[in-house]
Amino acid sequence: MICEKSARANSLLRWLDSDSVNEDPRLNLPGEPRTECDRWLPFIFLHAGCALVLFTGCSDFAIIVCAALYCIRMFAITGFYHRYFSHRAFKTSRALQFLFALIGSASMQRGPLWWAAHHRVHHARSDKYGDLHSPTERGFVWSHIGWLTSTKNMATNYEKVSDFAKFPELRFINRFDWAMPLLLIALLYLTGDVLKASCPALSTDGWQLVAWGFFVSTTILFHATCSINSVAHLFGYRRFETPDNSRNNPILAILTFGEGWHNNHHKFSNCARQGFTWWELDITYAMLVLFSKCGLVYDLKPLPCTESLSEHAVFSYVDDKAGGA
Ligand SMILES: [Zn+2]
Ligand SMILES: [Zn+2]
Repeated sequence: MICEKSARANSLLRWLDSDSVNEDPRLNLPGEPRTECDRWLPFIFLHAGCALVLFTGCSDFAIIVCAALYCIRMFAITGFYHRYFSHRAFKTSRALQFLFALIGSASMQRGPLWWAAHHRVHHARSDKYGDLHSPTERGFVWSHIGWLTSTKNMATNYEKVSDFAKFPELRFINRFDWAMPLLLIALLYLTGDVLKASCPALSTDGWQLVAWGFFVSTTILFHATCSINSVAHLFGYRRFETPDNSRNNPILAILTFGEGWHNNHHKFSNCARQGFTWWELDITYAMLVLFSKCGLVYDLKPLPCTESLSEHAVFSYVDDKAGGA
């Protein structure tokens, strides 16, 4: 009974302090991670919040805000949470890594250290026992969202990301991962309220911007990102014979700014680029190239065969010199 009470107290505490999950007794339960009811609450909150649009209506301005917040946060997730924090595919300044860690954490995908640590496990165990979100091991729903509802997957293994865990500002963002989503909601509400009074021609208000700019935008962003773990390990074509079931999926590549070239990525996981041919659109890489030309990032890790990016040459390239995460 005491143990049950303590688990509940910890469960409440961890909403405020992510590191408190390390004290949760459920973390040490034997067996595979299992879904838990209370861990569904953030996702129910996120999806139920989309119903706000029924009451707030829509405006051109709200749609623009929704799309803009999707794009900037998607780039923070793909360019920084994934290619930078998880794979170190390029280098940047401490200030820029902090800025994009902040923006990424407004996506309700938890902190950058938690995200990177779990993603590194995925690459180490892809579609084998120990992969946290393999659709071939535990089914589609588990790989898409179920794995996020287990206490066992909630703790951040700081040893797996010791290269970034040494930055106290990143640990702070990681620990209080609820702060940026709440701040974004508050900023959207205030902006909408000010615009309602100062610029009525926009036909917007606080709750309308919260509904579209946060709930709708974040929900689409969430499912697009999760689809890389689920859909991109089931549907699409395989260019390389990797030991996992990763796929290249063009539709996902568009939605996720290049992450859909997932089989390419599993083959050369530390490469800054994931679209390998001219028709494999990789918006994240294009942005990173632009950033490097502006001096914001540098040392973008190239493909091992940079001199021959023709489709045939890539198809014939079999030696993975880039290695895993
Ligand atoms: Zn994968
Ligand atoms: Zn990866």
